[in-house]
Order: sequence, then structure tokens, then C-alpha cells
Amino acid sequence: MAQEKKVALITGANRGIGYETAKQLGEQGITVVVAARSLSSAEETATKLKAAGIDAYGIQLDVTRAEDRVAAEKYLADKFGKLDILINNAGVNASTGFKNVTSQVEDEELLRVFNTNLFAVVALTRELLPLVKKSPAGRIVNLSSILGSLTLHADPNSPIANFKSFAYDGSKTALNQYTVHLAHELKDTPIKVNAAHPGWVKTEMGTDAAPMEIPDGARTSVELALLGPEGPSGRFIHMGSELPW
Ligand code: NAP
Repeated sequence: MAQEKKVALITGANRGIGYETAKQLGEQGITVVVAARSLSSAEETATKLKAAGIDAYGIQLDVTRAEDRVAAEKYLADKFGKLDILINNAGVNASTGFKNVTSQVEDEELLRVFNTNLFAVVALTRELLPLVKKSPAGRIVNLSSILGSLTLHADPNSPIANFKSFAYDGSKTALNQYTVHLAHELKDTPIKVNAAHPGWVKTEMGTDAAPMEIPDGARTSVELALLGPEGPSGRFIHMGSELPW
């Protein structure tokens, strides 16, 4: 039988926004399964959270590896019998940041970035959706970015107009489309699927130049993970406000 307490899986939970999201959800009394590329890193993360009084478990999950995704599903099914919250947080940046030139983007770079930021999210969600359906109120949060907004990129006066990094931005635009499509498929179920823009956050990806601290950077993911029955689905959200697609 499924456990009563809510269970959340957070990918890329060993550092940055993913770690903080796990911590904040754990502090709300939710069981957190912290996934990381290496088992040692996942276990270290879980130990750190447990020391803070959080019910945490570490699993190895490289989101791009099919065998890891299958093992994650089996672990969750055997241990909890359901999944209430899936946070698709793991992500990679373009290797050249904003210095790249759109017309020169290489296939290898596109494949690398899309593989983690889009294909792995679709595949992991496909694997875990049957378990999310066993939750009375499943929540799926896809970590997108304002840089995925076509509307803002197309506006020469928007704050992101000069921050163009096609491989990364395109992967998040496609992730936004996936969010809208999956929310539509699940519209007659209790499951809510949303895309989160965390803000520009001081992590390894965001760099020290970012204005937001990590605890604030996790707030949007946590808020979307804890949405009540009247909350939105199929939306692109930053700190409680909607962003244009
Ligand atoms: P980060 O500090 O660079 O952390 C990225 C996390 O993803 C790490 O735990 C990393 O694991 C993990 N990861 C990468 N590839 C993976 C894979 N194949 N399998 C499993 N885990 C993998 O990034 P962050 O700033 O916390 O970003 C979290 C999410 O927010 C990302 O999706 C990012 O695109 C999005 N976001 C961030 C910002 C920002 O300003 N920081 C802004 C908009 C959106 P390792 O430690 O093993 O590398």
C-alpha cells in the first residue's frame, strides 16, 4: 500500500536549486528522494538533509540513462507505491554561455543540451507518470527558464533580448511546449503540470553575477509542487506570476 505522507523526487538534487528545493520540501514534512548522477553524491545529500531532521533518501539517477530511470521507478514503486511530486530540475547550460553565435551552433552541442533538458525530462516523466497517477494530487514541475520565452526573445526591448544562447534557450522553449501538451493530456485528472522560471540565481549555472540567492531560487519550484486543487496547470510561472510563453 502507498504511504500516506507525500513523496517528492527531485532530479539534480545534489547542489544548486535542486538541493534547496529538496530541503524546503523536506522542511514541510514531505519525504524527499534526492537524485544525483552519482550514488555517493546522492547519499551524501540525503545524509545532510537527514541531519537537518528531513525524511530523505538518496538514489543514483543520471536522467539521460534509461537504466537509471527504470531503476528509479522500481525504487519508488517498491518503497512508496506512488509519487506525489516530480521535480524535473536537472539541467545543463550551453558550453559557451551567451558567447555563442546562433548560426554556428554545432549538432553535438544541440544534442548534449537537448538530451538533458528535454529528452531526459520526457523519458523520465513517461517512466514515472503511472506512479504520479497513484497520488491523489500529483504535481509535476519542469524547471524551465525565462530564456525559453519566444515572446520575450522576439521583443527587442525585453530584458532578455540580448541574452541569446540557442541550444539552451531552444531546449527550454521545447520543454515549455511539453509542459503545455502534458497538462492538456492530464486536464481531467488531479495532476498539475507547470513550467517554473526560478529567476536568475547564484548557482554554478547562474554564476556569482546572479542577483538571487539560492533559497529564493527554489521558491517557485516549491510553490508549484505544493499547489492546491484550485491551482493552475499548463502555466509558465515565476514567483507566483505568469510569464509569457
Ligand atoms: P546547477 O547549479 O548547474 O545544478 C545543475 C544540477 O543538475 C546538478 O545537480 C547537476 O548534477 C544536475 N545534472 C546535470 N545533468 C544531469 C544529468 N544528466 N542527470 C542528473 N543530474 C544532472 O544548476 P541550477 O542553477 O541549480 O539549475 C537548476 C535548474 O534550473 C536547471 O534546469 C536550470 O536550467 C534552471 N534554471 C536555472 C537558472 C539560474 O539562474 N541558476 C535560471 C533559469 C533556469 P552534477 O552535480 O552531477 O553536475
